Amino acid sequence: MVTITMKYILALDQGTTSSRAVLFGESGLPVMTAQREFPQIFSHPGWVEHDAQEIWNSQLAVARELFKSGVDGLGLAPEAVTAIGITNQRETTVLWDRSTGTPLANAIVWQDRRTADRCAALHKEGRDALIQSRTGLVLDAYFSGTKLQWLLDTIPGARTRAQRGELAFGTIDSWLVWNLTGGRLHVTDASNASRTLLFNLHTMDWDDTLLSLFDIPRALLPRIVPTSGVLGQTDPALFGRAIPIASIVGDQQGATFGQACFSPGMAKTTYGTGCFMLMNTGQMPVPSHNRLLTTVGWQIPEATNSTATHTTYCLEASVFMGGATIQWLRDGLNIIRTAPEVEALAASVPDVDDTYLVPAFTGLGAPEWDSQARGALIGMTRGTTRAHIARAALEGIALQVVDVFNAMAKDSGISLAELRVDGGASQNNLLMQMQADFLGIPVVRPHVTETTALGAAYLAGLATGFWSDTRAIAAHWSVQQRFEPNMSAENRAAKLARWHQALSRAKGWARD
Ligand code: ADP
Repeated sequence: MVTITMKYILALDQGTTSSRAVLFGESGLPVMTAQREFPQIFSHPGWVEHDAQEIWNSQLAVARELFKSGVDGLGLAPEAVTAIGITNQRETTVLWDRSTGTPLANAIVWQDRRTADRCAALHKEGRDALIQSRTGLVLDAYFSGTKLQWLLDTIPGARTRAQRGELAFGTIDSWLVWNLTGGRLHVTDASNASRTLLFNLHTMDWDDTLLSLFDIPRALLPRIVPTSGVLGQTDPALFGRAIPIASIVGDQQGATFGQACFSPGMAKTTYGTGCFMLMNTGQMPVPSHNRLLTTVGWQIPEATNSTATHTTYCLEASVFMGGATIQWLRDGLNIIRTAPEVEALAASVPDVDDTYLVPAFTGLGAPEWDSQARGALIGMTRGTTRAHIARAALEGIALQVVDVFNAMAKDSGISLAELRVDGGASQNNLLMQMQADFLGIPVVRPHVTETTALGAAYLAGLATGFWSDTRAIAAHWSVQQRFEPNMSAENRAAKLARWHQALSRAKGWARD
């Protein structure tokens, strides 16, 4: 091992399909990355599980990989890492034994639909308004509350053991911190807690009425710590030395922070498997009247070393099928071999020739929340080719984002001046140009699109003085490419009207 004078922040980015470790330097640029995939477990239709132990093993392995190889292949001294920041797939639910640290069951992943019936029953009891006003969420199986209830109802003796304080619940951030600290800390932050259906956005604490609605003993729950702040140290046995853990943030809120959306009205969209748009709405939660989610963005100290914190809230919209639509062209239709090929294929025709692809393969998320909607490809003639379908797929992604964008503008009363973008599919220039055209505002892609991990790093760096304040961080954000809208208002309105006709054909299609 060599002496290293450079200092870094290590971000642990625990995603739905892989665990990543990314090392960031003072300039906010990633200098090293390690990534490992882990198995997805589909034991019943509609169920999605992860082995929590595999999550931890893969996360530890990628972090150790960075220490082993280091920036120059000679190893990275643990003292070169000022702090660790954690970002994670949200809502995924883990239940473990406090004395052994062993999970009682596989983790139930956010995509898992097994508690849809429980949500329907609560809906019938008229609980939607209570839940929305306290949590900012819609009543859906996506969130942790009914998943945890299912585990307690299903595992023999679990609820009694939970009441005795023998068990711990956590989203993936809590599970990672528990393991990183050798079982010493059971904590979460408000950006993750606000996705559980158990957290009150106004009191910033677990809510007793909701806990009794879901029959969840309080003794199960982690302590809530600020999103940015030194919450503890890693077990020295893991990396050879104790390293401060200085942030915990849910992945989409992390990406919003990584995009430096620090002022109210700034927004980003991540084009990954799904598309996630988040808008910073400032220091008060903005209730949605258009079926978007109100969520905690981050809770950070007023200043370095200050114990006083302030909370930034966001409006959030999730589109289920974003880049996954392109995966379907590749794996379902076999009309492209790799995702990036879609761009040239779509660009080989000048327009979609009035063909629309509504990618409601798994129902529609915001703002429709129609679980009965199904995919539709409409308007084809004998002249339709795979190129038109590829182009319609890209338009289908961009048009869904327009719908959530408009819902967000209505809820927030803010009309955005520009949209910041990131995620795998944001590399597609044609898609980004379509997005600017259909929105009528510029779309801006930064140099660093590794924004989720970057957000966790920034939050950890702020807590440890690595970066002085958000102004210093915002100065690192720089434009790689800007896409200016190039479509008349008349054509835009006609396009959206036609899209909504196609959308109405896809809604409510599936029968029970
Ligand atoms: P996630 O974090 O959800 O796994 P990523 O941000 O890694 O997603 O992006 C991967 C997704 O982006 C895949 O669904 C893939 O189909 C899509 N994708 C990647 N490159 C392109 C491209 N050039 N054009 C369109 N879609 C793309």
